[in-house]
Amino acid sequence: MTTIVWFREDLRLEDHSALVHAMKVGLPVIGLYLFDPHAWLKHDTAACRINFNLRNLSCLQRELRKKNIPLLLLEVKHSDDQLNIFEVLANHTSLLCFNNRHEINEQRRDASIEAIWLANGKRIARFIDHVLLSPGTVLTKAGQAFSVFTPYKNAFIRTVIEQGLSLQPLKSFAKQAPFELPIALTKALTRVCRQHDSVPLSWPGIHATVPETYWPGGEAEAQLRLSNFIKTKITAYQKNRDYPSLAGTSQLSPYLAAGVLSPRQCLYAARCANDGKLVGGHEGIACWINELLWREFYQHVLWAFPRVSMHQPFKLSTLNLAWNNNEPLFSAWCEGRTGLPLIDAAMRQLQQTGWMHNRLRMVVAMFLTKHCFIDWRWGERFFMQHLIDGDLAANNGGWQWSASTGTDAVPYFRIFNPVRQSQRFDPEGHFIRQYCPELASLDNKWIHTPWLCDQPGQSHYPLPIVDLVKAKAHALAAFKALNAAEA
Ligand SMILES: Cc1cc2nc3c(=O)[nH]c(=O)nc-3n(C[C@H](O)[C@H](O)[C@H](O)COP(=O)(O)OP(=O)(O)OC[C@H]3O[C@@H](n4cnc5c(N)ncnc54)[C@H](O)[C@@H]3O)c2cc1C
Repeated sequence: MTTIVWFREDLRLEDHSALVHAMKVGLPVIGLYLFDPHAWLKHDTAACRINFNLRNLSCLQRELRKKNIPLLLLEVKHSDDQLNIFEVLANHTSLLCFNNRHEINEQRRDASIEAIWLANGKRIARFIDHVLLSPGTVLTKAGQAFSVFTPYKNAFIRTVIEQGLSLQPLKSFAKQAPFELPIALTKALTRVCRQHDSVPLSWPGIHATVPETYWPGGEAEAQLRLSNFIKTKITAYQKNRDYPSLAGTSQLSPYLAAGVLSPRQCLYAARCANDGKLVGGHEGIACWINELLWREFYQHVLWAFPRVSMHQPFKLSTLNLAWNNNEPLFSAWCEGRTGLPLIDAAMRQLQQTGWMHNRLRMVVAMFLTKHCFIDWRWGERFFMQHLIDGDLAANNGGWQWSASTGTDAVPYFRIFNPVRQSQRFDPEGHFIRQYCPELASLDNKWIHTPWLCDQPGQSHYPLPIVDLVKAKAHALAAFKALNAAEA
């Protein structure tokens, strides 16, 4: 009689709903993790993200050992393997616990595994843990899902207050009695999959170029980053968060996406710093809490409108836009050689660090979808292939916001001008100089528009790949025509 806790994108020991429940049940607990290279490929998981997960998993294995919890590390080779694995597990264990995912494929997978488990007469316990409130519990008065952020946020806060929810992290648990993996179980598993004793440092065929030192793995690192941010940066967050050279944001997104950190831990730390307040209080802290709720909102959107996880726009009418899917323009954007320094610096930041500042994500996404008029799904995919914090809900939400195809999206006529964004948010070109060293010697006056500069040495920097004025007019005309056809 044992309990299995299946870890997925929740690679932590603390504040883990499924694990805490399993430990309370009192049966010996075994951790489970599945390496699924087919899923990584199918979901365009970035190489840096896969390596980051391995680092986190290795730390998790170490921490679990301290609690006497063995971790089964199984490799899924074929799509049927998962079901076979769970058949075997159901024969040898009694309770399965895991935290829910909200992506449609994952929901379907979990439903089929639940069916196997129940068909074998075993118990299952599933938890809401990746978000603060259960999807489907924050609804309009008419019982519908929200598609606009501010009323969603207000309803979220009302729900927390009216129901007196603490949203505090769960208490830590004591270690279990020493326990080894049952031999009969490991023997039975060898028939259906490969087992690993320890977490590999890298995975064959996965070549990440982002240095590991940028994003050390493990809960201790995540907690340290959270507490440093709360101590030293959160109060200036509202003032600094739009300036990419200032590093004024938390850079916790990789840890949240991998579940090394929970949203409750973040919210709790922010509320403690804000005298317990969820709204109001210090404006920097309130602003950061607002961002955590954007994360929450996009998870709810993903759950309520499954089409957005199936490559469909939220606004279905935008399927009629005739995107200009121009490969050379797209390659120039991907490689950071558009001729627009801020865009190029941002894309190089992504390639070199696996992360991009939020302001820049909006600027490059809008440039790709509005000025290049390239389908947002191309950009969404490229981001997933390169982001260390790649998260379907937030990435899809961000892309559809920028492309004006999504929930609460930017109005189609509000098109960011990349030069003005550059002058406004990187006025002295510090960020551009860091990632485009070939422009480092340019005066501040020309750093945003090197093509206008007559200083020597600039002839090698590419000219802008589009005429910003004409490109904007084209996008406006396309959206206007779409609206006219709809009216
Ligand atoms: C085109 C585009 C693509 C994006 N893709 C992703 C993605 O794949 N993964 C991802 O986590 N975020 C994504 N975002 C949202 C946002 O850019 C990042 O969460 C943020 O830059 C992460 O940096 P940080 O941890 O310093 O954030 P902070 O400013 O410190 O915010 C704290 C946390 O709140 C959440 N958050 C902040 N802003 C948003 C937002 N707009 N939407 C959803 N959650 C938010 C993140 O979990 C973040 O770690 C995307 C935004 C855009 C415009």
